[in-house]
Amino acid sequence: MIEKEEEFVCSINHKLPIYMIVCKKKVEKNKRLLCNQCMDNLESNLNNVMSFRKVALSIEENQKIKVKQVEYNIIKNIKQIDELQKTLHQLKQHITQQLNQLIRNTDEWIKFLQQIGQQYVNYSFFEELDNLINKVSIQQFYIQSFNYLNQLNQSFMVSKDNQQIELIQVI
Ligand SMILES: [Zn+2]
Repeated sequence: MIEKEEEFVCSINHKLPIYMIVCKKKVEKNKRLLCNQCMDNLESNLNNVMSFRKVALSIEENQKIKVKQVEYNIIKNIKQIDELQKTLHQLKQHITQQLNQLIRNTDEWIKFLQQIGQQYVNYSFFEELDNLINKVSIQQFYIQSFNYLNQLNQSFMVSKDNQQIELIQVI
């Protein structure tokens, strides 16, 4: 309770403990409290008058129930948010793993292409002699190597696509 009970004053400011309460909507808030002296001075019997102690107790009980309900709901909400957070963490971890895998794949891809380039730098005299005799033109070689690289890139892209699809499904 924000207010202090000992600071409560009755409607006529008698500076006595509050004894009764007028539970009427029309009565102003600061006129609702009555001390013993107020009660003695009452000209007629007031309807809707309740014991201050009873009212205070009832408000206190209601307040306890309200706090319990709010606490219960807040704890429930926090638990749900906690679960969501865990899922998000897992998702983040999974996506990071997938991205790392994709990055590793592109690294492998680059290395593989570099190795192929290296293979063409090294040549066998006898093989090339064969090619000369069989009149394998540079144009033919160019088409062959172009097709070969295309196939290779295709195979890397397919495996990359699979991972991308998996990643999209996760998201
Ligand atoms: Zn009074």
